[in-house]
Amino acid sequence: MAEAVTTPASSPSVAPAAGPESDTVDLAVDLAVIGAGPCGIAVGAAAHRAGLSSVLVDRGPLCAAIVGYPWYMQFFSTPEKLEIEGLPFVTAEKNATRREALTYYRRVAEYFELDTRLYEDVEAVEGKAGEFRLRTRRQGEAPGDAAERTLRARNVVVATGGFHAPNLLGVPGEDLPQVSHHYREPHPYWRRDVVVVGGSNSAVEASLELFRAGARVTLVHFLHDFDRGVKPWVLPDIRNRVEKGEVAVRWGHRVEEIAPGRVVLRDEATGVLETLPNDHVLALTGWRSDPSLLRSLSVDIDAETGVPAHDPGTMETPVPGVFIAGVLAAGNDANRIFIENGRWHGRSIVQAIAGRPGSGTGSGSGAEDVREGASPAAR
Ligand SMILES: Cc1cc2nc3c(=O)[nH]c(=O)nc-3n(C[C@H](O)[C@H](O)[C@H](O)COP(=O)(O)OP(=O)(O)OC[C@H]3O[C@@H](n4cnc5c(N)ncnc54)[C@H](O)[C@@H]3O)c2cc1C
Repeated sequence: MAEAVTTPASSPSVAPAAGPESDTVDLAVDLAVIGAGPCGIAVGAAAHRAGLSSVLVDRGPLCAAIVGYPWYMQFFSTPEKLEIEGLPFVTAEKNATRREALTYYRRVAEYFELDTRLYEDVEAVEGKAGEFRLRTRRQGEAPGDAAERTLRARNVVVATGGFHAPNLLGVPGEDLPQVSHHYREPHPYWRRDVVVVGGSNSAVEASLELFRAGARVTLVHFLHDFDRGVKPWVLPDIRNRVEKGEVAVRWGHRVEEIAPGRVVLRDEATGVLETLPNDHVLALTGWRSDPSLLRSLSVDIDAETGVPAHDPGTMETPVPGVFIAGVLAAGNDANRIFIENGRWHGRSIVQAIAGRPGSGTGSGSGAEDVREGASPAAR
């Protein structure tokens, strides 16, 4: 089924493409952004301001990662640090809730008239700078169900985030229904024996919520203290709960095996095994990105850090016309780039391509600095 690319009215750079009529989209955009999380949205917003056309394609809903966060989480960043292109983010309290952030990013997409293709997976990217082709498939469409969709773009931005797949424990029983790598809310765990694996913010905050909702919590961490990145204002609370025995902890332990009704732990130092009664295991051990699209474009991924090769000034990879944005640029260390700093990648990218031949000729000659006065690179 043929489908035409629609672009914001203010983006005059869309040029008709020559060629036979086909199921291929017949217009090329300046930027195809793969991933419509906060940082992908920021790329689209910066492009809009600069008069460049863009399309955002996401395999899930807008801001799929935030959709999956714990229902009642609050961002640690104050709202102005989550803002895109100066559009004010007003919240009821000092920190935004997940719900407020989702409302805000929907509003950003509307305000900047972003062309979003949601529930549409990018399966392959072919071509080269000036003439990329993205092959996409909508959710539920099996091969042969519908004509292949192709999106043409002069540049590609990969902003697929860091939440592709959980870091697995790799132990027997991990696939049992009592095991989850997501934590949403505490209620289902009332009066249940819950093992929380991990020592980061996710594990600590889940443990506190679970304890307060009446779950019997044991936190299992392979280190001997909480991770250094745990929010300083949360630490005293969890330390007090641990000291009082309200949240049990097994430092220096790993999960050895999970079975219905029990979990086996191993002391890293002594090798001694311990069996705990167990109803649920929440393995909150972090997530990793998926570099496969970048690899298919011949972008090198550092074997140690997982960081895709790129110029931090422009966010362009060594493959001309292929850019990265957002937490994907952090490789294995998702704590290095988040919304606060990843939201500026859009401006760097737009500034890099705005002057290139064939790019949009809109009124903006680059990302206009609306509020903070600082260029992304200067921050
Ligand atoms: C509990 C929690 C609290 C946090 N609090 C804060 C905070 O206070 N401040 C802060 O700055 N950061 C915070 N973060 C981190 C922040 O949420 C992430 O850094 C941010 O989501 C990164 O944005 P992104 O756009 O780079 O990637 P993501 O938000 O992960 O978006 C990537 C998008 O790409 C899509 N995608 C992936 N592969 C494909 C494909 N092949 N085709 C199409 N689409 C694809 C995904 O569906 C997703 O929508 C928090 C994270 C967590 C877990």
